[in-house]
Amino acid sequence: MTEKIRVRFAPSPTGNLHVGGARTALFNWLFARKHKGTFVLRIEDTDAERSKKEYTQAILDGLRWLGMDWDEGPDVGGSFGPYFQTERLSIYREVIEKLLKEKKIYHCFCSSEELETIRSKQSEEKTAIRYNGRCRSLSQSEVEARLARNEKHVLRLKSDSSCENIEWNDLTKGKLTFSSELVDDLVILKSDGMPTYNFAVVIDDLRMEITHVIRGEDHISNTPKQIMIYKVMGEKVPQFAHIPMILGSDRTRMSKRHGATSVVDYRELGFDSEAFVNYLALLGWSPGNSREILSRSELISEFDLSRVSTHGAIFDVEKLKWMNADYIKRNSSADLLQKVTPWLKQIQEFPGNYDKEGLEKMVFLFRERMQTYNEISDQIKWFFSNPETFDEKALTKNMSLPGIHEICQTLTEELQKIEVFNEEQIEKTIRGLAESLKRKPGEIIGLCRLAISGRSATPGLFESLAVLGKQKTAERLKSFSAKFCK
Ligand code: GLU
Repeated sequence: MTEKIRVRFAPSPTGNLHVGGARTALFNWLFARKHKGTFVLRIEDTDAERSKKEYTQAILDGLRWLGMDWDEGPDVGGSFGPYFQTERLSIYREVIEKLLKEKKIYHCFCSSEELETIRSKQSEEKTAIRYNGRCRSLSQSEVEARLARNEKHVLRLKSDSSCENIEWNDLTKGKLTFSSELVDDLVILKSDGMPTYNFAVVIDDLRMEITHVIRGEDHISNTPKQIMIYKVMGEKVPQFAHIPMILGSDRTRMSKRHGATSVVDYRELGFDSEAFVNYLALLGWSPGNSREILSRSELISEFDLSRVSTHGAIFDVEKLKWMNADYIKRNSSADLLQKVTPWLKQIQEFPGNYDKEGLEKMVFLFRERMQTYNEISDQIKWFFSNPETFDEKALTKNMSLPGIHEICQTLTEELQKIEVFNEEQIEKTIRGLAESLKRKPGEIIGLCRLAISGRSATPGLFESLAVLGKQKTAERLKSFSAKFCK
């Protein structure tokens, strides 16, 4: 590709960044990064009632969390701004003045009742429902007189009826053809003076020199209308790529019914942003082999619009969790600590002053035991305070061990004798003890695990004890003995 690629993500700030929006942003971002192009963020906030500043902020935060940096847009600026549609009203006005002079648009004074009458007549006659162009032929003097009387009106585009069809080569769907009969004289400026969605998008995409419009296929029905606006204006049409919808497990469009839909929810549930990006990229795209774990730079180099699928992509949270677990286990201990810290802080018993090195080692024990970072809270908490409750089943089993009192005592003594309290020495001691007491090592390990954690499952016992430390291990064993091994 020789032209300089410019793409945009154009969310309406009427809610948080949802999974579908994030995936659209990601495909645009990957395409821009792959082709060393420009990724523009434009906020489509002309719906005054539903647009909120908090949502804009939430969208920016969501994109930042997912590591999608924009080259132009809110906070970063750029030479094609402003990047909020409500700050571009004078631009739309200017284009409208020009189109009025060129007689490419006209004032329409038809009331909603009149439009309804036209529609019901058409539906009775079983002809296409479209505005019949009644106000196209109003004389200049009549228009002026009605404007002078402040009559409510909209501005409409004079659709070009010279071509039968409107078609484009969609970069993901192939050739798409629509009868131009379906595109009537579009309203481009509403009676409240706001541009319509289709008009504002076209003007912005033109002014921002967008080369590729990559968006959800729910916008396909808008594309013929937008192409009509480009045609009437005599402007070059960008390339379009419509990407498939994201579906829930029942193959209906993803909604709250299927679980969390906002990106921020996934952050709060403890998903890794890199895993989430990897998973999003595979919703409707694949690299053409069976690889599923791809780093960000691999996604950039492999991404290709021609490999975007034409049918809906199913959002499978179990698969996402599987992928997340894979990313979690590949963290370095320092990264892992940093990522789980928000959840550690939620643990009541978490001591604020824990030494970082010890904490890193502790957290690292759990790297292969979590699907989401938030699981750390429950799994790790036994490290921070002596267990008060004990797994009932494990307790019953251990209580039936003959000579449990002696085992506990010897175990405590032997462990206390270890000079360098590391995994290797602990293992040697416990296995040696099992042998001398003629017990299975598993029995001693299970007992020791229960005594120090109150649980029947923890990370490997030897490494856990090494991290817990000699003193705490002894304390917990003694306290367990005092409670249960009389
Ligand atoms: N603002 C539109 C939306 O949030 C996107 C428009 C477009 O991508 O053309 O759905």
